Amino acid sequence: MTSPSPQKKKKIAIVGLGVAGSYLLNRLGRDHEVMGYEMQKEGEFQAVCAWGTSKNELSKIMKLLGIDFEKYILFNGKKMVVDLGQKKPARKIPLIGLVTYDKHQLELDLTAGRNAKFGVKATPSLLKDEAYDMIIDCTGLHRSFLPRIKEDLWIPCVEYKVSYGNENNGDVRLPKDDFYIRPFEGLAGYLWSFPLEKGSAFVGAGDYRKRHNAALDEFNTENPGKIVKKIGRPIRISPPKYCEPFFLGNVVGCGESIGTVFPLLGEGIIPSLQCAQLLCENLDDLPRYREAVLKKFEYFNYVYDIIKLKFEGKFSMVRHLPLMLKTYKAMKKMEDRFGLEVRMADFKEIVSTY
Ligand SMILES: Cc1cc2nc3c(=O)[nH]c(=O)nc-3n(C[C@H](O)[C@H](O)[C@H](O)COP(=O)(O)OP(=O)(O)OC[C@H]3O[C@@H](n4cnc5c(N)ncnc54)[C@H](O)[C@@H]3O)c2cc1C
Repeated sequence: MTSPSPQKKKKIAIVGLGVAGSYLLNRLGRDHEVMGYEMQKEGEFQAVCAWGTSKNELSKIMKLLGIDFEKYILFNGKKMVVDLGQKKPARKIPLIGLVTYDKHQLELDLTAGRNAKFGVKATPSLLKDEAYDMIIDCTGLHRSFLPRIKEDLWIPCVEYKVSYGNENNGDVRLPKDDFYIRPFEGLAGYLWSFPLEKGSAFVGAGDYRKRHNAALDEFNTENPGKIVKKIGRPIRISPPKYCEPFFLGNVVGCGESIGTVFPLLGEGIIPSLQCAQLLCENLDDLPRYREAVLKKFEYFNYVYDIIKLKFEGKFSMVRHLPLMLKTYKAMKKMEDRFGLEVRMADFKEIVSTY
């Protein structure tokens, strides 16, 4: 990373210190005059997410900042079980780098030693007298500094951190000992259980048709554990194509605020970091940033189209095979980045079952 010449040094506000914002605070804070704003209080900061990601890609991204990602890993997955209900045997997808990691700690470490105000909900009027050259909207779902999106599709989600340790004999038995997901009818979302550090897991669910709370209650009744915390927020699944404008005046969006969430899985950590990288590379040329984001996440559009067709009950495996093939081919090329083996048979079976 090269230092910009002195005349290019900018005064930048980064609003929202989640995945994208904490990365940008760390990286841009090296060469520019940067201030971060996060509405959550420092000690109570929650990284609402299931903390699942591909260690291959995260290691590469963090290495460039001099951070060893391996030390944040909580659980290394071997297989992802996709529960297809009573009708069919579960699919077992081999994993090649999918992990859970301490996302909370990594975000805190990225902001350590940088200028940041926690417990401050930034608004355009709050920042208007600060004369920032650039305000980066990393507020995720909130998108507090940019105009509303016309086609804003989001999935409500709830998640529990559950501990399964037996306090009497110290025995630990996770009901699902590896990555586990159970899609909802119409591919409108899924229930998940992702192992964390020894004896605990994130058990959550998100569903466009709002069946997630009932499904979670049922899972937790069948698989009792100690609920350590309950968190949640919706996930935006409209891809960047539908989240324009990306920039307006001195504001530019980055991360989930401009739709960088893979619609099939609600997976936004890696895409939001990739988006932050693109912004750093194009800080002086926002039209080029826009082009780069649209190109990088073009494959989200096919997936989104499949999801929308499923939601509307209009999906046909025969008619929409070209969309399936485009999605499969794009994902297949990125197995490392997804951290799992991408197989057409799994994809077809899941989409046709649900
Ligand atoms: C329940 C759940 C589970 C998920 N699981 C996964 C997963 O396992 N793997 C994966 O890859 N993705 C997952 N995601 C998606 C992923 O977490 C997000 O897409 C990703 O965090 C987006 O990063 P971001 O930086 O754009 O926004 P966020 O990480 O959401 O950060 C936005 C930040 O902005 C702050 N903020 C908002 N408004 C303001 C304001 N006005 N002023 C100051 N601060 C503000 C918020 O407090 C927050 O800290 C999950 C999402 C949810 C909701």
